[in-house]
Amino acid sequence: MIVVLRHGCAPSSVMQVTERLQELGYEVRPIIGVEKTVVAAVGGDEHRNVDIVEQFRSYQDVEDVILITRSYKYTALETHPERTKIDLGDGVVVGGREVVMMAGPCTVESEEQTFCTADVVARAGATVLRGGAFKPSTSPYSFQGLGVEGLRILRAAADQYGLKVVTEVMDPRKVEIVSEYADVLQVGTRNMQNYDLLKEVGLSRRAILLKRGMSAKYEELLLAAEYIATAGNERVMLCERGIRTFETYTRNTLDIGAVPVLKSLSHLPVVVDPSQGTGRRDLVEPLSLAAVAAGADALIIEVHPNPDQAIKDGPQSLTFDGFNQMVPRIARVADAVGRPMGTPAGT
Ligand code: PEP
Ligand code: MN
Repeated sequence: MIVVLRHGCAPSSVMQVTERLQELGYEVRPIIGVEKTVVAAVGGDEHRNVDIVEQFRSYQDVEDVILITRSYKYTALETHPERTKIDLGDGVVVGGREVVMMAGPCTVESEEQTFCTADVVARAGATVLRGGAFKPSTSPYSFQGLGVEGLRILRAAADQYGLKVVTEVMDPRKVEIVSEYADVLQVGTRNMQNYDLLKEVGLSRRAILLKRGMSAKYEELLLAAEYIATAGNERVMLCERGIRTFETYTRNTLDIGAVPVLKSLSHLPVVVDPSQGTGRRDLVEPLSLAAVAAGADALIIEVHPNPDQAIKDGPQSLTFDGFNQMVPRIARVADAVGRPMGTPAGT
């Protein structure tokens, strides 16, 4: 790290910083310039010293402290140059050459709704079935999901059509039960900084779809992934699902730039959710195309047999026809960027 001292600082301030850094195991070089004095420190285990950095900020004459390595380690591309491929079984790999399609209803509503959606999305080329059984809702009066019954329906529908399952877990106490039914545990945007949940899913053997908090910076998303990885689970997918901005025309502002940025900072696969990302059915296709062109490893898309009657997120859910028409167009973009779309498991 580099500690910058104020112009005209006292020699005792430089000593204080130097001695403390030496105590922490750093090799220290004070550089006394005409304008400024800086103390350069190398060799310490920097990402573990975040709290120490804050202490330095309160030292006499310290103007700034700059970390020269990243605050996250396990999730950083620089410490893990080989990209992580997450094998969900039966040939479904997220982060490999193929772009993976995850699709299904926002919420599991009934057996019929889930089975017919699974059938359609599987035929169209999806390999992972999405659907919420435990739903995070802004209003306590809004539908909260079918719970374990929803998990059972989702798993049965996925098995019938040869799909994998991704579904949300909101409560650390539910990680075990959700893991019995799901191949991928989704941590939703509202829970990206629920550290107890992150640690708990870190103990699970299931892959994790970690959604970006709606006002989270890239670094915060990567540190959330770091929580999961340091707890023991490195099978994490990062999901861009739109962030809050001043724009209200769309539900969120989908940050396509997040895809190349996250891929340049981390070895973890990147998934894009244009459904929550826009809140508008008509924008799901163009932003899916853009996400794949930008390098997304997978898409997660809401599809419903009758969006006008959907309990949740109807306005952003595609109809079966809409989904069927969109997938071949996404496949063409995927081909163009050398990333063919995965084929359904078992075909
Ligand atoms: C969802 O996938 O339906 C959902 C609620 O996601 P998010 O956490 O991104 O809002
Ligand atoms: Mn939804």
